[in-house]
Amino acid sequence: MRIVVEDAAVSTVDEVGTEYGAGHVIINDGVIERVGPGPAPDLGPVDRRVDGRDCLATPGLINTHHHLYQWATRGLAQQADLFQWLTTLYPIWARIDGEITHAAATAGLARLALTGCTTAADHHYVFPSGKGDLLAAVVEAAGAVGIRLHAVRGSMDRGQSRGGLPPDSIVETMDGALAGTEEAIDSYHDASPEAMVRVAVGPCSPFSVSPELMSAAMELARYKGVRLHTHLAETVDEEEQCRAEFGCTPAEYAEKLGWLGHDVWLAHGIHLSDGAVRRFGDSGTGVAHCPTSNARLGAGIARVRDLTGAGAPVGLGVDGAASNEDGGLGAELRWATYLARLRGGPEALTARDALRLATIGGARCLGRQEELGSLEAGKQADVALWRLDGVEHAGIADPVAALVFGTLPPLALLLVGGQTVVEDNEIRTVSTVDTADALRVASARLVEVAG
Ligand code: ZN
Repeated sequence: MRIVVEDAAVSTVDEVGTEYGAGHVIINDGVIERVGPGPAPDLGPVDRRVDGRDCLATPGLINTHHHLYQWATRGLAQQADLFQWLTTLYPIWARIDGEITHAAATAGLARLALTGCTTAADHHYVFPSGKGDLLAAVVEAAGAVGIRLHAVRGSMDRGQSRGGLPPDSIVETMDGALAGTEEAIDSYHDASPEAMVRVAVGPCSPFSVSPELMSAAMELARYKGVRLHTHLAETVDEEEQCRAEFGCTPAEYAEKLGWLGHDVWLAHGIHLSDGAVRRFGDSGTGVAHCPTSNARLGAGIARVRDLTGAGAPVGLGVDGAASNEDGGLGAELRWATYLARLRGGPEALTARDALRLATIGGARCLGRQEELGSLEAGKQADVALWRLDGVEHAGIADPVAALVFGTLPPLALLLVGGQTVVEDNEIRTVSTVDTADALRVASARLVEVAG
């Protein structure tokens, strides 16, 4: 099956940032066969030709941090900081089941696809006992929507009775969490380059997980050869608690536990010292930067320019929809750019820097830079084709500025491994009407039973 996209502006996001004002992308059997300027050369029979006039082709966007189940708890705790927000929501989340998780994940993933996302990491750390196989519900939803999933099997074992923030009713035992994590890896992890599902190990955060589980989870991940993820250095409160309890900053705590390295990416990484930024860079520890969520919770502004300058992989994340009711990845490019500029001035982050974070930066965080994150021959055919001919964008001097500075353009096409997921700005794999109906029912059920 050969697909040819022609006459589009192309931003490849390769190592040197190659772009074409009018170029082509040729896809063959789910893999990019050729990218170049001008008309496409004849490489053999073509099954589908896509007219890319007035469009911008970019790599599909990569979301490095999400909590899909939260799509069913949007619009709550609106003025709360992180700890207030968590303590309000934990009792509601304790009631989730397989059906609610499936409805929320399907809707959240559909929303991501409609904003150009082709790969999403979902950090799921709430596993109430007797409520069904929640991870299976997320995997099933990703299969139906058709985007790549990095299922981060999260865990919490430190309830209030052990000095943690979550109520005891929502945490697992350490042994239960580890057994569930190992089962998830054995059931779903696919190490192949074209994998649609990979699994990572993700104890939730220092304030909800014991040091013993942090260490054991790390050993399990390294034994199994999968990646490690957790929340770190999100708020000043977290840092104060960490200093009081462990006598060090969250970054120092992570390092002591062995939690820095090329196989680790951490959500947020906002409150980092110069030394911690250097250590992240030297060790290759990645950061999932979640600008909208950080703004919604007033958590702070991550040192994105310093981190990338130090050599740390940095990707973008929408974070859970309970702290980012938009849940779309496209808008995070603009937020990342503008927050970086509020921190460091107008040269702190360019539109192309933001696109790089959202594509190859995310691929590096997920360990997939060899197969995803840029439009280059041999990589998986995850491609977003953005329409720039509407009143919002027509005539703009630079198509990448249209994508990052402007309102998010509609998608002419979104391909994942060469398969159509979005066309003419409509999702083609699931019914948005049925998905919204199921979400409405699930959200009402969850808030009602909890209230
Ligand atoms: Zn999060």
